[in-house]
Amino acid sequence: MPAPLDAVALACQLINCPSVTPARGQVFDALEAALRPLGFEIHRFIEGEPPDGPVENLVAIRGEGAPHFGFAGHLDVVPPGDGWLSDPFEAQVADGILTGRGANDMKSAIAAFVAALSRVQQQRGTCSLLITGDEEGPSVHGTPAIIRWLKDRSIRPDMILIGEPTSETELGDTVKIGRRGSVNMWIEVPGTQGHVAYPHRAANPIPPLARLVAALDALHLDDGNDAFPPSKLEFTDIGCPPGATNLIPGSASARLNIRFNNLHRGADLVRLVEETARREAPGSTVVARISGEAFLTPPGELYELVVNAIRDETGRTPTLSTGGGTSDGRYLIELCSVVDFGLPNATMHKVGESASLEHIAALSRIYERIIVKVLG
Ligand SMILES: [Zn+2]
Repeated sequence: MPAPLDAVALACQLINCPSVTPARGQVFDALEAALRPLGFEIHRFIEGEPPDGPVENLVAIRGEGAPHFGFAGHLDVVPPGDGWLSDPFEAQVADGILTGRGANDMKSAIAAFVAALSRVQQQRGTCSLLITGDEEGPSVHGTPAIIRWLKDRSIRPDMILIGEPTSETELGDTVKIGRRGSVNMWIEVPGTQGHVAYPHRAANPIPPLARLVAALDALHLDDGNDAFPPSKLEFTDIGCPPGATNLIPGSASARLNIRFNNLHRGADLVRLVEETARREAPGSTVVARISGEAFLTPPGELYELVVNAIRDETGRTPTLSTGGGTSDGRYLIELCSVVDFGLPNATMHKVGESASLEHIAALSRIYERIIVKVLG
């Protein structure tokens, strides 16, 4: 077995490869170089056209047969933004903190997992890494393409751990076992433009839109359940085309988002909004885009593994949460049980994104405990 890898050194190498979403190339070369000596078979494939692509995806596989343990993650990052004290794509290590774009979300977790692998002698089963270059973007050429790739080859993990930064303040305080779904909708109410002094020659779209907004705001979607908070509809925009004080606008529009729990499917919520729109604002149109359905991993083996490994390493019992933004678990759940667990996430997507060296080392030991239980 080659010498164990240093998680922080590998995280620095990955951060030093700029990989604003959609990512490909260099950053994948760096990961491949770390995985090959560990005996992984590496498959890389590129999908999509600009602006959403091209996207690179990497599947690394070692061993064969059951159990098949998968680790999922992404090497793309969000744009750095302004205000960094140093180059966001040049990793800085000082005072026990690693700083750089992707240090938190989520190059350090990938490095922690690879370093954990380098310390374990795999005795049985299959280990795979499912790493995409498009999680922060539209995700269409990312994890869904990896799932197609696996299905084409009849490869199906038995469980997948996603290394997203799920901890809140302490490492191991929170594990994500599902996520709410999300749907955006754009509503347009038609009218007839005209002079405010001659309203009989116009049809003002604002009152029907206002009635519709009030009716949608009054909807009670559900009370939530043990795993999820109540579903919530929130308006994110309302307006008319630029006009004048003496002009009745020719149309009015609103935009909304619903974060919904597993008591709903996205399409049913779209239908509910459409019906309400037909009633309150006849002639209006609703355009919807479902970003993801709600999902929940039922309690079982993967839960136990992750919770026990965290408890053994940190003494903490994590909260099992379904809060926060969506993750690629929304796609991976069609393969098997999925749990997200990673670093404390206070700096993710921020200027000066960072991770504590102590947390990276402890995360790597937690991942190691899980790998040893399943494959050691
Ligand atoms: Zn992420």
